[in-house]
Amino acid sequence: MQVYLRLLQYVKQYWPAFIVSVVGFVIYAVSQTASAKWLEAFVDTVERGAFEDRIWLALAILGIFFIRGIGTFLGNYGLAYVARYVIHNLRLDLFKHLMILPSSYYHKSSSGELLAKLTYNVEQVTGAATNALKIALREGLTVIGLFGYMLYLNWKLTLLFLVIGPIVGAIVGIAARRMRGISRNVQKSVGDITSSAAEAIKGYQVVRIFGGSQLEIDQFTDVSQQNRRQTMKMVVTQSVTTPIVQMLVAGVIALMTFLAMDPDLIQEMSTGQFIAFISAAALMAKPVRSLTEISSMIQKGLAASESVFDVVDTEPEKDSGTLKLENVRGALQFDHLSFTYDSDGKTVLNDINLNVAPGETIALVGKSGSGKSTLAGLLPRFYDASEGEILLDGHNIQEYSLASLRNQIALVNQQVILFNGSIAENIAYGAMANCSREQIESAAQAAHVTEFANNLPEGLDTLVGENGTLLSGGQRQRIAIARAILKDAPILILDEATSALDTESERHIQDALENVMQGRTTIVIAHRLSTIENADRIMVMDAGRILEQGCHAELLQQNGIYANLYQLQFSETADLPATKQQPDQE
Ligand code: ADP
Repeated sequence: MQVYLRLLQYVKQYWPAFIVSVVGFVIYAVSQTASAKWLEAFVDTVERGAFEDRIWLALAILGIFFIRGIGTFLGNYGLAYVARYVIHNLRLDLFKHLMILPSSYYHKSSSGELLAKLTYNVEQVTGAATNALKIALREGLTVIGLFGYMLYLNWKLTLLFLVIGPIVGAIVGIAARRMRGISRNVQKSVGDITSSAAEAIKGYQVVRIFGGSQLEIDQFTDVSQQNRRQTMKMVVTQSVTTPIVQMLVAGVIALMTFLAMDPDLIQEMSTGQFIAFISAAALMAKPVRSLTEISSMIQKGLAASESVFDVVDTEPEKDSGTLKLENVRGALQFDHLSFTYDSDGKTVLNDINLNVAPGETIALVGKSGSGKSTLAGLLPRFYDASEGEILLDGHNIQEYSLASLRNQIALVNQQVILFNGSIAENIAYGAMANCSREQIESAAQAAHVTEFANNLPEGLDTLVGENGTLLSGGQRQRIAIARAILKDAPILILDEATSALDTESERHIQDALENVMQGRTTIVIAHRLSTIENADRIMVMDAGRILEQGCHAELLQQNGIYANLYQLQFSETADLPATKQQPDQE
């Protein structure tokens, strides 16, 4: 009920269109009743032999259908108008909410599931929001009209209809309950189909090389079968209910026919009235059946709405800070910072203490899984610290509004995300969309994007394809770096930002990046130690702790973990033939 009321909130603002539709359906219902009345007139005319009235009868049937046509149009149009707006708004609300959901939500749910909600489930909602209303109105009013007419003709006979009411109600109730459960399964199966397909499509290379085609086909067959089975259950439920209800109606009509032909009763009615009465009863069969479908329709819609509202009700990112950042100096302080992803999970960061002066470059090194990316991700508040705090210019970062905080940070990470558009649009993404062409060009120049863009047919305006599939890993990474350069933010996070570049391009871009780092607080995470030798301080992390810190020379002198790592990498690179370059790698 609550879900339904909430859904009706979406309908509420479109009440004028809704009224139009109600008027349309009233007209429709009246015309239906009028056609029963017409039959009465027709038979009586024939009986009386009043054939001079035939012109009126002929015109009347035209009129009835004309009016019915208008009613149908108004009713359908008004309701579709409301329905499509409800879908649109619901979808929009869902999407807007996706933009403010915390990172943890994205880690927990599959993208297929979310896509299915945006496409399939939202459509299902109309069932409850408007289709059910349409039938309730159109068929409900028709039933009322016909019923009223029958009462007027012969109320005793008509009351027979009331006997089956509770039986129909009970059957419909059982069906509806079953429908809701099945409907949830169908929605889930659509999500599974989307997920399964998306994985196989995105990972097609791995699928082919590792002989996964059959596995993928099997998995897809399973989820598609599951969808088929659940949908069939739905159809069966529906198809069993409908004939049962129709049989009940037929039973009543049979009984009526039998009783109505009782000589005592029939005398009260003219032949026309009698025929019209039975026709009206027969005309009710269809609307009554439709009315019984309403509840399962509502159940389907409600199951869908629930799944949509579930997302909309998920707590968004905490954004209670009110301070705005202006003229940021970029002083960072990590104060007894600890972090776990799940409340019962293992500690990923353990009592990190670190002061970063404005403009300083801090490098994080350490084994993979030691918590470097996690630490960097806490700065833009993708997650919040479990214990301790991070201060920016003396204030806990939670005191700033999220938008203002993130506005101060440029981030380049290993997985470059490119959007469908041109290289230039990808560099000037989001809030930077109104940067001048010169600004974009100079960022592209600094990140060595121009180098390869010049060889492309349309230079910086070349389209990159979905997620930049038309570019190499190194090229994509350079675009991401150009994006960060263009943002010109006081805090820079480079998380394996040059990992996909060959050694030579890396050296070039390193120069460019070092220019960019001037005067900015920078956190660099790099696997190749050669790229961080010039950092002001290097932190060596292991299992969520900082074990060593100092500048390159100091750490070498300490002869600890860093010195070891360095020796190891140094000897590796020394082994490489000097003439060969490492190719771009993903
Ligand atoms: P690094 O960047 O040093 O390779 P990460 O910060 O990525 O390390 O990961 C640190 C630890 O946190 C790892 O043990 C990893 O399994 C865990 N981890 C990373 N991301 C998540 C996540 N979204 N949910 C749960 N655990 C995670």
